[in-house]
Amino acid sequence: MSIAKLVSREFKIENTCVKVGNVVFGDGNFPVIAGPCAVESEKQVLSIAHSVKNAGAQVFRSGAFKPRTSPYSFQGLGKQGLKLLAKVKQETGLPIATEAMDVENFDLVEEYADLVQIGTRNMQNFSLLRRAGKSKRAVLLKRGMSATLQEWLMAAEYIMQEGNENIILCERGIRTFVRHSRNTLDLSVISVVKKQSHLPVIVDPSHAAGVRDQVVPLACAATAVNADGLMIEVHNNPEQALSDGLQSLYPEQFAALMGKINSIHAVIQED
Ligand code: PEP
Ligand code: MN
Repeated sequence: MSIAKLVSREFKIENTCVKVGNVVFGDGNFPVIAGPCAVESEKQVLSIAHSVKNAGAQVFRSGAFKPRTSPYSFQGLGKQGLKLLAKVKQETGLPIATEAMDVENFDLVEEYADLVQIGTRNMQNFSLLRRAGKSKRAVLLKRGMSATLQEWLMAAEYIMQEGNENIILCERGIRTFVRHSRNTLDLSVISVVKKQSHLPVIVDPSHAAGVRDQVVPLACAATAVNADGLMIEVHNNPEQALSDGLQSLYPEQFAALMGKINSIHAVIQED
């Protein structure tokens, strides 16, 4: 059983609302975070940012430091990528979500990020969690790809123990024996997280699916199970993307999805 304290419902009954810029997660609204997996160029991020904003996304996502399975894959533009994200923010007004991969670069990332992402591979990087706990920025804590709910909540506990209560949990699919998707999206965890914790929890159907065609139905399902928002990868030229192109929605697909999500969320709210 869970012995998490600070993140548990027993410790705090009311929902925690997390502000990312002026966007609130956990207050019953359904903010969508969208953007490409990685920052590749100024033109690429600005074009995608304008499209997702027009479609109704409220936060822009993109990685400047990328945790790649292969050291030969594109590792991200680093500081230059962060500067391009600053430009996106300046031009569109969208707050920025971007990943901090290690303690070493945390100071730099938090200068540019409104929401600092801790990725699935780092969910139990305890020194990174402690550093995030000392940050003034909101933190997006992705579930480890093989983590139980209790391990995930304990990771959030590390952050909160250092004084940072602004944590958004993110389910992004767990390791699976199936071959038809990259991971299996654990939608059953959402209601249980909400019961056990006061923290908002969002869903990333893109990394769960791994293939574009599955992202739309999973995003709709995540909305229907009353998650507190979504994170979705969108690319203007996915065939040429330097990372996760196969799972990235085309901008038009994303815009159509936003319409569906709004309808589903309106029904859910009527409960
Ligand atoms: C990402 O958001 O691009 C990412 C690498 O996510 P995850 O840590 O869930 O694999
Ligand atoms: Mn990605």
